[in-house]
Amino acid sequence: MTPYDAPPAQAPVSTPVPETTPDALLDAFARRVSYLRVSVTDRCDLRCVYCMAEKMVFLPKAEVLSLEELERIASVFIGLGVRRLRLTGGEPLVRKGFMGLVEALSRRLDGGGLEELTLTTNGTRLAHHAADLARLGVRRINVSLDTLKPDLFRTLTRGGDLGQVLAGLEAARAAGIACKINTVALARDNADEIPAMIQWAHGLGMDLTLIETMPLGEIEGDRTDQYLSLTDLRIRLASFWTLQDLPLSTGGPARYLRIAETGGRLGLITPMSHNFCESCNRVRLTCTGTLHTCLGQDDATDLRALMRGGASDDDLAGAIRAAVMGKPKGHDFRIGAGEGPALTRHMSTTGG
Ligand code: SAM
Ligand code: SF4
Repeated sequence: MTPYDAPPAQAPVSTPVPETTPDALLDAFARRVSYLRVSVTDRCDLRCVYCMAEKMVFLPKAEVLSLEELERIASVFIGLGVRRLRLTGGEPLVRKGFMGLVEALSRRLDGGGLEELTLTTNGTRLAHHAADLARLGVRRINVSLDTLKPDLFRTLTRGGDLGQVLAGLEAARAAGIACKINTVALARDNADEIPAMIQWAHGLGMDLTLIETMPLGEIEGDRTDQYLSLTDLRIRLASFWTLQDLPLSTGGPARYLRIAETGGRLGLITPMSHNFCESCNRVRLTCTGTLHTCLGQDDATDLRALMRGGASDDDLAGAIRAAVMGKPKGHDFRIGAGEGPALTRHMSTTGG
């Protein structure tokens, strides 16, 4: 039995920072990489229409990193100065032994080099895990939710139960975890509901971030008829709300606004209509151990092959440094009628 088979039994022990970071993980454009997103599985219990095909073919188990391998690579990144780690998928909470990984990584919080351990989840299994996540030091999570209408939720997720997600949110909030809602803006399906969703989230003290659909991975149907420009949506919201730009930058693709009437924060992720690359501080590790230094480019470094070929932690660190040095300046998504996905990899493999 590996440590990952058992549910976490005790609170994390904080360890001193063993590594120093004499030279931070810098790219050729002097951007410092301090944020890693790790997809822990390509599998999911939902099949959101914009994310996956209905009959997804998932990866053979041997191709997916073991939890020990995931922890090892994450630790090398922390040694290189990564301070924020987000676990995602697929759906992270469907991976067997996942809470053991959270427990192992949580030991790097509080003086172990890591400042923040977070999660992006669809929320279906959150009710079950919220208290343990909180105990292990997870202070914030992102929960993806595109509608508050049970029937539409079932349609958009191809079978999901909205009640589970709402129960998960309640449990997380009760456990003291700050929840941010991520909502993909869909021209046909939820465009009219977005103001009500913002009011609902802000009413409960939760931020909400809207995401434009990105052309990642083959899905059935045409994504272009669902594309909703957030620039246009912002104009619509400004016709009845007072929107104030916030200077906040997380080094990610979101821009933030305060809505005076609700008092809450709204994030806008607009990869299609704006370039967010100049301040990008993040890289992504797929569940197969491929490092992508840009969500919108095909650059890739196969850390799994190195690791399974016997590479030392220093070898891995060297490969990561080299990959980061080659981080592209920016991306170039296009979405247009008849065009295929800009990139063939799915968001569920890369981690959103
Ligand atoms: N299963 C988890 C969830 O849904 O939160 C984590 C993985 S999911 C791939 C991460 C985020 O990516 C979700 O907020 C989802 O809505 C978003 N996403 C998936 N496919 C997308 C696409 N093609 N365009 C924009 N956002 C997408
Ligand atoms: Fe699953 Fe998240 Fe993709 Fe939906 S967006 S299918 S919940 S991985």
